[in-house]
Amino acid sequence: MLDTNIYDIAIIGAGPAGCAAALGLGKSGLKVALIDKDRFPREKACGDAIPGPAISTLEKAFPFFQDEFFNLKKKHRIRSSSIILNNGRPIDYYWKLPAYNIKRSLFDAFLLKLVRKYASVDILTEWAVNEINPGTPHLIKSKNAGKSIKAKFIIGCDGVNSITAKVFQQTANSKQQTVFAVRAYYKGVKLDPDTNFFYILKKYLPGYFWAFPLGNDVFNVGFGMKTDRAGKVPLKMKEVLSEFIRSGQVKDAFAGSQQLSENSGAIIPIGGKHGSYSGDGYLLTGDAAHLADPLQGHGIDKAIVSGLLAARHTANCFKEDDLSADFNANYDLSIKIGIGRELRKNRRKQLMLAMFPFLLRIYAMLRK
Ligand SMILES: Cc1cc2nc3c(=O)[nH]c(=O)nc-3n(C[C@H](O)[C@H](O)[C@H](O)COP(=O)(O)OP(=O)(O)OC[C@H]3O[C@@H](n4cnc5c(N)ncnc54)[C@H](O)[C@@H]3O)c2cc1C
Repeated sequence: MLDTNIYDIAIIGAGPAGCAAALGLGKSGLKVALIDKDRFPREKACGDAIPGPAISTLEKAFPFFQDEFFNLKKKHRIRSSSIILNNGRPIDYYWKLPAYNIKRSLFDAFLLKLVRKYASVDILTEWAVNEINPGTPHLIKSKNAGKSIKAKFIIGCDGVNSITAKVFQQTANSKQQTVFAVRAYYKGVKLDPDTNFFYILKKYLPGYFWAFPLGNDVFNVGFGMKTDRAGKVPLKMKEVLSEFIRSGQVKDAFAGSQQLSENSGAIIPIGGKHGSYSGDGYLLTGDAAHLADPLQGHGIDKAIVSGLLAARHTANCFKEDDLSADFNANYDLSIKIGIGRELRKNRRKQLMLAMFPFLLRIYAMLRK
């Protein structure tokens, strides 16, 4: 059934990028729909480590955020990170800025709750977009919701398998531009409950294992590796993680622990190559725009920053009455300046470290 109302903007995807965009447009006076295929809270394969800049960016953008985040339960404050290279001595960092771990199901539901509370936006959940007919306006269809809507502008925040990117840019994820990552929850791990642990092994480069505490004796444990290199490892990624826990350097810490969930895998679309993030009547953000960090694989911060940049740019589009690809090139520029430089730098580091693993220790010492 066609909703005869035409939206100014359809934000497809209500993860961190989509919620940031919706909050950014919440008081714009524009008619906005925030669409997601799932009902929240929903699971999302993730390390559950919320990068500090994700929080500080939201604090700067929205006066209400600090109090709301303070009241968010079940987040776990992290004091330090420990990097262990090839079974060597740990290199420890102590964070000045607060850093938190929290299950993504809870963090993303929290962001959507803020959209409900503070933004004038129609929220359509359990509304999987399975067809977009580009036009003026665009037609957006959902089989499972049995509905269609029209929108003059689309902000694609629909993650790694973005239908927006597929329709407008005909792009597919390549092995060179993705990391494959697996994670599971464990209880009863004998590691410091206030430290994020990173284990880097020469035979699994570029990539690393992690153990991130979530409080209440639960750890998020995982492994990620560049997808083109993962194909050269004899074991399947899920088996690599299980083997590391059973027989790697952490086996004593995991002795007697209990696995609470299956090993769950997904790809991370890493950035650092030049690309286009927009065109006539649309923008891409977060994972849909390949903006995750190539070195560490984090993408929540980049999703939030790009979601906010998209909101600011889209409000300008309507102010200037210009939704064209030419005008949207300004958004590409803001992404290249705001995020792209760091991604390109980290992509070069990732390639260097894969070729010359001994640089890892030097790099870690310099970072310290
Ligand atoms: C195993 C793993 C571990 C990771 N660990 C970390 C970490 O610890 N820290 C970190 O910062 N990053 C981590 N990342 C990366 C991080 O998860 C992503 O970069 C981040 O989620 C990107 O946010 P996003 O809003 O762009 O996309 P998403 O969070 O993927 O949100 C996209 C949303 O779009 C919806 N959607 C998708 N398709 C449709 C459709 N057709 N119709 C309607 N809705 C749709 C989805 O339901 C989803 O809610 C990890 C990734 C993986 C796979």
